[in-house]
Amino acid sequence: MSERKVLNKYYPPDFDPSKIPRLRLPKDRQYTVRLMAPCNMKCTTCGEYIYKGKKFNARKETVQNEEYLGIKIFRFYIKCPRCLAEITFKTDPENADYIVEHGATRNFQALKLAEEAAAKEAKEIEEEEKNNPMKLLENRTQASKQEMELMETLEELKDLNQRHAKVDINNLLTTRQIDKQQQLIDEIKRQEEEDEAVIRSVFGKSEGKTIKRIVEDEEEEVEETPIMNYFL
Ligand SMILES: [Zn+2]
Repeated sequence: MSERKVLNKYYPPDFDPSKIPRLRLPKDRQYTVRLMAPCNMKCTTCGEYIYKGKKFNARKETVQNEEYLGIKIFRFYIKCPRCLAEITFKTDPENADYIVEHGATRNFQALKLAEEAAAKEAKEIEEEEKNNPMKLLENRTQASKQEMELMETLEELKDLNQRHAKVDINNLLTTRQIDKQQQLIDEIKRQEEEDEAVIRSVFGKSEGKTIKRIVEDEEEEVEETPIMNYFL
């Protein structure tokens, strides 16, 4: 069985490898690949939604005259599953993403665009500060001013909160005290009225003096136990 697997090859003495014709493939050759849609998109021809992850038989090609830091960029051609219109997108190594080129629009891109714009703006400001020290100083002053203003506002808010808290507690206490006092006074009045009624029923209406004295007592000494008045 050992003759079945031949490991050696015989090269004749006049063998010249440079004479073998090389297979030259064109650089923009297209390959057929199976891929998934890299993002949600909408066909511009028929309005069909193509969701991220839908599988396609696509053609792949290397984008000529375009690369990012030596990384090749690839373009893919797919067909809309409903209207068969061609949709193309290519890789975007700079943002680790894909760019939809033709035949479709990308969905859910507003946030991404906003983020990109914000990043760009921040970068521009940084550049400007780097090139212009006066601008840097200006920005810093403004920032510190803003910070101080913020701190002031915060302090004010804290103060206000504290004051409100205090007022609340005081209010609560005073209201409760007043309520208690009012209750006490009401109780005293009620008992005295009862007492008066009893006195009237016992002694008749001639005992006006006693009643008056009791009333005076009530006005002078609220704290005193009202039952004592009955025995006075
Ligand atoms: Zn379509």
